[in-house]
Formats: sequence, C-alpha cells, structure tokens
Amino acid sequence: MILFRQVEKHYGNFHVLKDINLQIEQGEVVVVVGPSGSGKSTMLRCINRLETITSGELTVNNITVNDKKTEINKLRRDIGMVFQHFNLYPHKKVIDNITLAPIKVLGLTKQEAEKTAMYYLEKVGIGEKADQYPAQLSGGQQQRVAIARGLAMKPQVMLFDEPTSALDPEMVGEVLDVMKTLANEGMTMVVVTHEMGFAREVADRVVFMDKGHIIEEATPAEFFSNP
Ligand code: ADP
Ligand code: ADP
Repeated sequence: MILFRQVEKHYGNFHVLKDINLQIEQGEVVVVVGPSGSGKSTMLRCINRLETITSGELTVNNITVNDKKTEINKLRRDIGMVFQHFNLYPHKKVIDNITLAPIKVLGLTKQEAEKTAMYYLEKVGIGEKADQYPAQLSGGQQQRVAIARGLAMKPQVMLFDEPTSALDPEMVGEVLDVMKTLANEGMTMVVVTHEMGFAREVADRVVFMDKGHIIEEATPAEFFSNP
C-alpha cells in the first residue's frame, strides 16, 4: 500500500532521509521509533506530501506521490493524519471540525456529514462533546476529536505523528486505547511515537531510525528481545 524505494530527502547539504526502503501492506501497523531528529516525522510527512522527497520513489496505493501531475487532494483523501498538536480549528465546534472535509472534499450533505461525524465521535468516546469548542476539551479529548476527524474521511491509511507527546501523562492512555482499537479493526497505520509499550503491544512491525537511516526493521518480539 505504501512503498518507499531509495528515498532521499535533502535540505541543502543536510540529508534528513537517506536511502529509505520500506513497504507497508494493507492492514499493517508500523511503529517508527528512534532518537529525536532522526527523520521520523519527515518520513511520515512525505507520505501525504506535506514534505516532498528529493529523489527515489514513493507510492501510496500505486499513486506516485511526487509526480508533478499527482493531484494532492486526491492523494490526501485516502490518508488521515493526526498531529502532535491536534490542529483543530479553535473557532469551530467539535462537530464542525469533523464535518468540514467530508462536506468540502467528499461532497456529503451537512446532514450526512453530521451523521458520520457523530458515529466517529461516539466511536472515540466523546459523542457528548459534539457541540463544544476545542478549548473546552482536555488534550486527550481534543486528540480523540482529531482522530475522529481523520476517520470521518474513511481513509485507507492513518498517519500518527507523536500523537501523545503533547498530552499530560494521565491522558496518554485514552488516546492509545483508541489507536489500539483501530489497529485491531484492521486499519493500516503508521505511527511515530516514543511509547514503547504501544510499539510492543500493537505494532506488526517496528522501524528504528537513526540519523536519516532505517537501522532496523523487526517484529516487536524481535525488536524488544534482549540478544
Ligand atoms: P524526528 O521526527 O525523528 O524528530 P524530523 O523528521 O522532525 O525528526 O527532523 C529531522 C531533522 O531534519 C531535524 O534535524 C530537523 O531539524 C531537520 N528538519 C526538519 N524540517 C526541516 C526543514 N524544513 N529545513 C531544514 N531542516 C529540517
Ligand atoms: P511539530 O512539532 O508540530 O511537528 P515542528 O516544530 O517539528 O512541528 O516543525 C514545524 C515546521 O518547521 C515543519 O514544517 C518543519 O518541516 C519545519 N522545520 C523543522 N525543523 C526545521 C529546521 N531545522 N529548519 C527549518 N525548518 C524546520
């Protein structure tokens, strides 16, 4: 479903991604770990073209991500993304944050979009917050809204960029639980996180990055076994 072949990403002389080769299958949960600054977030952001690659080949569902002719909106329709800092619209109610893209991009009616939004809000456990504003919610609740927003587009894959790093510790679990449920339901997921418990428990594969390279690719059992 996602294929990196000899992908390089340079900022001037700084090589943030070096010879990245990675294949992610449908239904797979890949957790990307590694030191800060090793290129994890950049690799994730290349998948939906928030960053462009310098060379190599990157495809999502056989769409070449970095072709001049690639329609970015079409590419991103199938890719949900959850950021560290939620990125919700503060002046819009929770439900309107979620219905925005389904109305605009998928062409749903307001009524259809609201039904979909409520379904996913219930799914992440915060249906009762639909008419509140993001600032009235805890960080963990806001992040669950962000996940519901991604899901409402019925994406083929969900990308998570350190989804719990900005949360107070007591809210980390509720977000990881939602992600775990999605994983168990067969969602294809690429997750950048420092939560090793999540990696160990939920990942099909752990990818370890350092200084722009993929150093190791292993099952959690292999990755966490002490040699
Ligand atoms: P990680 O997610 O592993 O912490 P990142 O992918 O965020 O790493 O960043 C990798 C490196 O690339 C960092 O050293 C960062 O400062 C650098 N970097 C990221 N974006 C840019 C940019 N737009 N211009 C220059 N350097 C960047
Ligand atoms: P977040 O924490 O929300 O992921 P970052 O602080 O990592 O955001 O990065 C914000 C933006 O700045 C990104 O677009 C990233 O590419 C860019 N950036 C990050 N590091 C550098 C850098 N060293 N030089 C230039 N731009 C950078």
